[in-house]
Amino acid sequence: MWRGMVLLSLLFFLPAGTFSWGFFAHRFINFHAVFLLPREMLAFYKSNIQYLSEHSVDPDKRRYILPEEAPRHYIDLDHFKQSDSLLLSSNWDKAIEQFSADTLRVHGIVPWWIQIVKANLTKAFAEKDRNAILKYSADIGHYIGDAHVPLHASSNHNGQLTNQLGIHGFWESRLPELFAAAQYDMLIDKAIYLKDPLAFIWGRIHQSAAAADTVLTIEKKLSDAMNGQYIFSYEKRNGKYERIYTVAYATRYHNALKGMVERRMRASTHAVASFWYTAWVDAGQPNLSEISHSK
Ligand SMILES: [Zn+2]
Repeated sequence: MWRGMVLLSLLFFLPAGTFSWGFFAHRFINFHAVFLLPREMLAFYKSNIQYLSEHSVDPDKRRYILPEEAPRHYIDLDHFKQSDSLLLSSNWDKAIEQFSADTLRVHGIVPWWIQIVKANLTKAFAEKDRNAILKYSADIGHYIGDAHVPLHASSNHNGQLTNQLGIHGFWESRLPELFAAAQYDMLIDKAIYLKDPLAFIWGRIHQSAAAADTVLTIEKKLSDAMNGQYIFSYEKRNGKYERIYTVAYATRYHNALKGMVERRMRASTHAVASFWYTAWVDAGQPNLSEISHSK
């Protein structure tokens, strides 16, 4: 509840896309995931690549209107720490039994939500429902991307506990916007079949949680070293002045992270393609050329 109110109030002060990876990064991930698919899926996904990148941000837009949407994008792993081993083996039904629905609503449900969307996508493939395949493919790309963001696995999600407000959007929006298209190597291995998608995504979330500390401490050291100067500038966006991290500061932070943003983005992209592929295999590998041209 408290978190919901904070998010609501942030809506008025922060640019759109500060919730997760940023609009640019989500589009970039879904777009590049398409090229990792096997031949049998490639034509269908390529012909819909525009849709898949544009709609990669729908789940963030839904946060404005659906109260139940927000917890689907994160999990405060530090909150659940003591029950870690139980969590790892938990599916959604067990999680509901184990923790109250209220707790889950406050501290996040992203791994279980990905499992639910994966089931919806598999069903859509089995039914050869073109619109549903596209909708759930775009959606799952978003949630998988979020699960790879370190601050989506930490209760200090916007540096609010360490006087680093704004770091959330800095890491996941500003840095990819500045550096991804020009510098990141998006030549990635082909999608793989995931025998246990839930365990796989838990693995990625544990990596995210482990990196959260680095994300925060490196920025803290840098800003302390600069006595808080030359960190922010103001830029006019959509007719309003917004506080943004300077390019010089972003470059220093990006270098200090030693490729972390690129690694997480590559891992996200590979995971998205692998979930799409796994859902298709689990649905019995339907022939997608039959639905490629229908409206
Ligand atoms: Zn999100």
